[in-house]
Amino acid sequence: MALIVQKFGGSSVADAESIKRVAARIVETRQAGNEVVVVVSAMGDTTDELIDLADAVSTVPAPREMDMLLTAGERISMALVAMAIRSLGHDARSFTGSQAGMITDAKHGSARIVDVTPGRIRSALDEGAIAIVAGFQGFNRSTGDITTLGRGGSDTSAVALASALDAEVCEIFTDVDGIFTADPRVVKKAHKVDRITSEEMLELAANGAKVLYIRAVEFARRHGVTMHVRSSFNHNEGTIVYNPKEGEEAVEEPIITGVAGDLSQAKVTVVGIPDVVGKAAEIFTIIAEAGINLDMIVQNVPAADTGLSDISFTVAKTDGQAAIDALNAAQAKIGFDKVIYDDEIGKLSVVGAGMRTNAGVSAQLFTALSTAGINIEMISTSEIRISVVTSDTDLNNAMQVVHTAFGLDSNVEAQVHGGTGR
Ligand code: ASP
Ligand code: MG
Repeated sequence: MALIVQKFGGSSVADAESIKRVAARIVETRQAGNEVVVVVSAMGDTTDELIDLADAVSTVPAPREMDMLLTAGERISMALVAMAIRSLGHDARSFTGSQAGMITDAKHGSARIVDVTPGRIRSALDEGAIAIVAGFQGFNRSTGDITTLGRGGSDTSAVALASALDAEVCEIFTDVDGIFTADPRVVKKAHKVDRITSEEMLELAANGAKVLYIRAVEFARRHGVTMHVRSSFNHNEGTIVYNPKEGEEAVEEPIITGVAGDLSQAKVTVVGIPDVVGKAAEIFTIIAEAGINLDMIVQNVPAADTGLSDISFTVAKTDGQAAIDALNAAQAKIGFDKVIYDDEIGKLSVVGAGMRTNAGVSAQLFTALSTAGINIEMISTSEIRISVVTSDTDLNNAMQVVHTAFGLDSNVEAQVHGGTGR
């Protein structure tokens, strides 16, 4: 008997009708002879509504109470899904994150899973029941308090349980048909991919693709969990996110698997930095000490007559003001002229494991962009990714021309459901 973990996102359990549909789907999997563990998110926009409520009663809601509040969302879904399954004549039992053994650190709002002890889930399965687990939540042993894993954390709950229970697959049910070569709302000719490596998925998720949460993919990669992303609204095949075995990677991989766009970044340029040893170290120490993650970095060659150079880097827009403040506070010490901030940028990334073994991918990318008259402001690469910064208004067009240039266009327009992919 195979053990399958199935995760249903908020849009899949948004109302009573959806919950009944999901229950039927779970029973189908059980009747096919599998053991089934289900992880659910809060119904529809419940989490956002609870956050609004908290903000309405308090300017700075206490993190502990916030987690108590938000975990209620998933508890509602888990009990309703269990009831719906029972009314179909199958045994089902719901469990909170702590009952399911999701042990985390103590960081409220963005806790990390440190251990999973799913003894009660295992017993429920042994007794023939379907186990329904509240996603997005855990428990810290030293404080004895309930924690949450951060927005979208149910994906991570599902993957962690799949790993701890040695499940055959972790199915992620959502409102889109799988992973696409690009966001179908931007690139109409995007097509669904059948298989993608977790490494590629990680790069796509880290660079703006929103179907899967990065922490869940990271966990799946580290623990060898196979994910299967599929729609809860139809029985289409979806996308397998797999961890290739030794040697498997070399076989016939497409050069480019997907194109991602990201409008959440801003560019910070430090102008007129004295060209002496140690200045870059000083600047990036300041940024690091402010707790800001940066992505791309570009340093210009100093102009011969002034001996001054510029450094640009990108940060999340939400960190932009903090970066400017931290730099300005150190201006006299470092001795630069000024800081320029530009939040009207877009980042385009092409990702593909086949890049390792194929030359000329950058040339092809830059040619496609220049033919379309799109200016490139910054470039960065990894082994399987090339990213460029353009102006924000060029991003959608850039994604389309690049998608076409790498032969990813499908003959039919992608079917876009109303959903957001969550
Ligand atoms: N309900 C939580 C959220 O909306 C967790 C999840 O959906 O995965 O972020
Ligand atoms: Mg949600």
